[in-house]
This record gives sequence, C-alpha cells and structure tokens, in this order.
Amino acid sequence: MTSSSEPLRGASHLECTYTGDTVESEALHTLSPAGKPYFARYDLEAIRPGFQPADVAGRRADLWRYEDVLPVRDRACQISLGEGWTPLLDVPRLAARMGVDRVWMKDEGQNPTGSFKDRGLCLAVSRAKELGATEIALPSAGNAGGAAAAYGAAAGLPVHVVVPTDTPAPILAEMRALGADLQLLEGLITDCGRVVRAGVEEHGWFDLSTLKEPYRVEGKKTMGYEVFEQLGGRLPDGIVYPTGGGTGLIGMWKAFDEMEQMGWIGPERPKMFSVQAAGCAPMVRAWESGATEAEPWADAATYAAGLRVPGAVGDFLILKAIRESGGAAVAIPDQDMFDWVQAVGQDTGIFAAPEGGAVAAAVPALVAMGALDPEEEVVLFNTGSGLKYVGMSPVS
Ligand SMILES: *Cc1c(COP(=O)(O)O)cnc(C)c1O
Repeated sequence: MTSSSEPLRGASHLECTYTGDTVESEALHTLSPAGKPYFARYDLEAIRPGFQPADVAGRRADLWRYEDVLPVRDRACQISLGEGWTPLLDVPRLAARMGVDRVWMKDEGQNPTGSFKDRGLCLAVSRAKELGATEIALPSAGNAGGAAAAYGAAAGLPVHVVVPTDTPAPILAEMRALGADLQLLEGLITDCGRVVRAGVEEHGWFDLSTLKEPYRVEGKKTMGYEVFEQLGGRLPDGIVYPTGGGTGLIGMWKAFDEMEQMGWIGPERPKMFSVQAAGCAPMVRAWESGATEAEPWADAATYAAGLRVPGAVGDFLILKAIRESGGAAVAIPDQDMFDWVQAVGQDTGIFAAPEGGAVAAAVPALVAMGALDPEEEVVLFNTGSGLKYVGMSPVS
C-alpha cells in the first residue's frame, strides 16, 4: 500500500461498455455518446505487484480496503460510514431446507443504511465530490435514496431524491431525517428518472442514477473481491443475485475480470444467477427468449422495491454475464419471497429484505430447472434488511 499522504493511482480512463471508446476519467461523466454506461479502467499491471490477496488481508474492514482498484485518488475524499466487509455466513439449516449441500449468505443488510446501495453511493458520492459536483440527484425505488441521503450528508453535499409514493415508510423517514430534498411521485422509478433529468438541466445537479455515472458499479464490484477473500481465496460455483438495475451483478463480473488480470484467479467463473420478481421480470424474459437486450416491463408490481425496475440501461451487460457464466435467470412471485423471508429468518437469524427472500426462493427453483446442481456451492446475496420494508406486503 502507498503511504497515506501520497495520492492514489485511481482509474486510468473510462471505457464505453458498448463501443469500447475511451475518455479521460478526471472530469464528471454520465453516459457515453452511445448512451451506454462507462466502466472505469485501471492500470492493473502497475497495481498488481502491491495488490495481492496477502497485501489486502490486514487492511481496514470496509470497502476502502480495495482502494487500489477504486477511482478516488485523494484519501480525504474517501467518505466512510463503515460500508462493505459484511459477513459471509455459512447457513447449513437453510441449505438443508433448500435441498442443496452448501449455501453462504452475504448479509448486506448490515451496511450503514441497511442495504448494499451504500457501496455504490459511497463511491459515487466520494468521486462526485472529488471531481467538484456541488449538488447530487437520483431517482430511487427506495434504498438508493436512503444511501444517497446518508453519503450526501456525510460529504456535505445537498441531495435531491425522487421516489414513488409507495416507497416503504421507513425509507421515507430515513431520507427525511438525513436531510434529503424529497419529491414523491405517483409512478415508477423510470418516471422519477424523468423528473431528475429535468432538475439536472435546470439546476445543474449531478445525476447519480444507476449506471448513468461510472462509479456506483465500482462500489458494488467490491462484493466480488469480498466473496473471494471471505471464502479463503476462492470463488463459489454459483452466485444468486436479486436484479433490479443489475449494478451488483455487473460489478462482480467486472471484479472477476480484474482479479484474473492481477493473477488472483484463473479463467474460471461462478455461474451468475439473476433473480427478479414475477411482477417485474424484464431480464428473465429476455434471457428465456435469447435476446441480448431487454424490453421494458409494463405495469411493474412487486413489494421488493429494489426489483421494481422495468428497464435497465445495463441490460446487455447483465444478460452477457448470465450467458458467459452458464448461469440462468428466474422470476419469483411476491408471496414466495415473503414465505422465504420467514424461512431465512428461522434458519439463520437474518431478517432479510424481500429481495433476500427472492434469492432464497430461487435456489430450489434453479435446482428444479436443472440450472443448479445440488452439489454446487452457492453464495446468496441478502441485499437489504427486512426492517426497511416494515409495513409492506406482497402484491403479486
Ligand atoms: C436496489 C436493490 C436491489 C437491486 O440491485 P441492482 O444492483 O439495482 O440490481 C436488490 N435488493 C435491494 C434490497 C435493493 O435495494
């Protein structure tokens, strides 16, 4: 590790995930001219010698332990509320209930605002501040707004959030308490996005929408590094991930490439399993039909707020990761999510979000589809705490 007074290397440039065109990374950027997400790229050959698993092992217990492959250069801009390095729990009773040999639960509900959105917003807000943004804004189905409000408050940046009126009450209370400027809208996250874009044009807010700026995915990719470290230096056979905008799945897939380039792993990859709600399953439909992009889902309805995302700008990246990994996509009805939240709770002691219930429900479904072998070891992501959904019940 470099000494704490020296600036970090940061990213070398940004690359369009669709065309491969590159651009410098020292100014604020949103989507590429092709209208697609940018990925941050790093000089991994230069980083590799000082960033091996043994170098990282004793570092701070949050996502900044991976600062060598994160975009922030000035450590004074590394905003931290203790995000990341969440427990990876061996859950044998849950595995037995599912009829599979070995299951691990990565409990992202233990992040500062109770969801894994903290990872992405931590990085996006840190880097936006470093690059001179003065006000930030985003549409949210709930948890992203809470995380943005927290990191904006920690950074001293005003935050504007536009959310659907049926956002869970605990999350509305959280955003208000954290000082965000909150706008409620009758509609879905995509409708909220239009209001944010108007604010961006009128007031010069910086737009932190999923994958519309390059750094939320950098925060989410740290889950891939953590799973490797917490399994003692290896990856599982499968990863089961509840997919809305897909940042976490895309981020981990990117992390595995970086890890391979730095010699942490070989070419092997876990199967990436994407789980959506039966009431909003654009990726599942696209995967089943063999499409490379997903049509937006009409009339999205699910109480898993994080999965109520009818269209994702990173759709082609999600579908590519599922296919290249030999994974699958599966849709889960709300009632099954709810039932599995109870099962997870009783078998593990974790009060999971509905999205966590969905990934648990997905395991027997994937086995029944023949996509997952009961002998394969899987990591499930419980992406949030059940406490953030108190008062919400299944809708589809
Ligand atoms: C946002 C969210 C998701 C979906 O995450 P993406 O990275 O957008 O796919 C899943 N679970 C919870 C609890 C969320 O808040």
